[in-house]
Amino acid sequence: MHTVWLVRSQEYALDKFWEVLELLKTFKGPLQFKTQEKPLEIPADRLEEIPFSAIDLETQEFEPLTLYSLNHWNQDLESLIFKKATWNTIFDQCQEYRTEQRIPENDFIVLLTEHNNEYSWFTAADPKGQRNLFVHTAFWDQYTGTDHRYPVAYHVATAILQLMTFANYNDLNMHLHKTSRGCINDFCADKKKISLKLRTADICPSCIELLDKRKVDREVIRQVLAIIEGIREQMLFKSRWKLDPKPLKLQIKGESKQIIFPELGNLEVKLTPLEKTLYLLFINHPEGIRLVELSDFRPELKGIYSSLYNGSEPASIESNTASLSNPLSNSASEKLSRIKSKFNHTLGTDLAKFYYPVGENTQVKKIELERNLIEYIN
Ligand SMILES: [Zn+2]
Repeated sequence: MHTVWLVRSQEYALDKFWEVLELLKTFKGPLQFKTQEKPLEIPADRLEEIPFSAIDLETQEFEPLTLYSLNHWNQDLESLIFKKATWNTIFDQCQEYRTEQRIPENDFIVLLTEHNNEYSWFTAADPKGQRNLFVHTAFWDQYTGTDHRYPVAYHVATAILQLMTFANYNDLNMHLHKTSRGCINDFCADKKKISLKLRTADICPSCIELLDKRKVDREVIRQVLAIIEGIREQMLFKSRWKLDPKPLKLQIKGESKQIIFPELGNLEVKLTPLEKTLYLLFINHPEGIRLVELSDFRPELKGIYSSLYNGSEPASIESNTASLSNPLSNSASEKLSRIKSKFNHTLGTDLAKFYYPVGENTQVKKIELERNLIEYIN
């Protein structure tokens, strides 16, 4: 097992961060993706501000990132300010974070940051050999024409595999492919070329051989391949789905009633047992339910919750369902908003809206999904 701590740099949006983490967590294997939630803030005095007017296009000092950004942006360029950190700053900050948060030295830290870095790399590992990495999170939408989380998650997974494969930067440079072949070890000098990697989702035969020779854990390789293949499938599916945007089949699986989307590579929307209890109640009642009337459904809630409860205090089944169905408590509406945000994070807002209960707080709330799209399996 390897713990991979995803760390959000302060300027990176919280919802985007969670989307990446949730995506990675859907792929099981020896890499365990986690967060300590506390963001890391690179102090302002360690960041270099680069106003647009200072950029010398002739020397191409800010290649490749800046130039490509300029080609794609139609906004008022004069007012843009780029922020940049040195690698030293980035990795020192990661190391400080490691100490403060008591993260063992064998665990990986992956900083997700919007800031540019001195060599404008999209991802890099700590040259001092600590298990620190960063992934640059900005501009991806423009380059790959896809959801930001796919390229970011792709780079988190493949950067870890590279860190496990190569001893140092010399070693890495010797093996990177200067000409793109759709392998994770392609050296892509610009973000546009990365689309090829995302679409092929592959490790080329010579790199597979190298991984084998260097005895990289096969389970990790398998998991990384599953991640990049899963990302590829979801990207393809989503781009085609736009042509015919209709709801997909939802499976409710096993004793723990996992909520799964088979057409999205068995993507799971993870709810807590209590959230799932409320969700399944709404699934059971296509006509909808008013929150003030939840107390009428208390026996049903209790029945569902008892089958999902995995704690050690049976008495809390009673108290939790009582609180959930109490019209004077916020418990149900809080859970509904968490359910909505989990569906949004996992599926994206366009698709998610078919699946969570909608309706004004005082009115009937219901899940619109046709119930024949729901399948119960063991
Ligand atoms: Zn290769």
